[in-house]
Amino acid sequence: MGILDGKKILIAGIASERSIATGIADAMHREGAELAFTYLNDKLKSRVEKVAERCKSGLLYPCDVASDTEIEQLFLNLSKDWPKFDGFVHAIAFTTGDQLEGDYLDAVTREGFRIAHDISSYSFAAMAKGAKPYLNEKSSLITLTYLGAERFIPNYNVMGLAKASLEANVRFMASSLGTRDIRVNAISAGPIRTLSAAGISGFKKMLSQFESMAPLKRCVTIEEIGNSAAFLGSDLATAVTGQILHVDNGFSTTALPND
Ligand code: NAD
Repeated sequence: MGILDGKKILIAGIASERSIATGIADAMHREGAELAFTYLNDKLKSRVEKVAERCKSGLLYPCDVASDTEIEQLFLNLSKDWPKFDGFVHAIAFTTGDQLEGDYLDAVTREGFRIAHDISSYSFAAMAKGAKPYLNEKSSLITLTYLGAERFIPNYNVMGLAKASLEANVRFMASSLGTRDIRVNAISAGPIRTLSAAGISGFKKMLSQFESMAPLKRCVTIEEIGNSAAFLGSDLATAVTGQILHVDNGFSTTALPND
């Protein structure tokens, strides 16, 4: 018996085997959830198919969250397979490469700011608006954030602002959907080497500093993020909403390394 038995959950944000959304899909499948998946474009479809296959799912839908039409179409298509479902995972972020390098004020542009906030924050609310008619009571919406929302992190630049916006989105969405007994939370993950993370200048250094400073003295894995997401998606977390859960080996609680 799994903690997600009987739950139907949509996963958005797989781009590779290393994606955080892949770790979440594997954990949710292990815990008994039925899963459906989105993919950004045809180039990424076969990678998502691989994960879907091992999670015993044939439900795959294209969705670029930059497009309201594609989001609307996603939930129309999904509703034909699942008239009702129990939540989704939003593991999506994007900004252009020039934004993730160098001094914040030198790097930030109006267009970089707009794209980062649109794809990495607004899209969570946009997906919730599209999903709302089809969500069961006790549904759970989960997004992924990073410590750069709360503190300065070199080179993270405008993504820090977009994550701060995403975290505020979590609180406002939790209130909006709370009247229907639907919960909204974010996992603030420690740094993990994924395709998106590779775009952040100096990421390798960030990982080694993280390891030496975190109380648990190691990096976080996508399996560990997956386990926390499975908990948030389950009825074990029915009183948890509007929260930012730090799954970061304690890094965010520490000011100086203990060495
Ligand atoms: P990833 O590159 O594997 O996943 C990012 C996903 O965003 C990809 O699947 C990509 O297809 C999707 N995406 C980008 N633009 C999109 C669009 N317009 N429409 C639909 N999908 C789009 O990287 P990841 O690290 O697994 O990132 C997942 C989430 O976790 C992101 O929100 C990221 O900011 C967050 N996060 C990552 C780390 C880390 O260190 N890797 C730490 C904390 C939070």
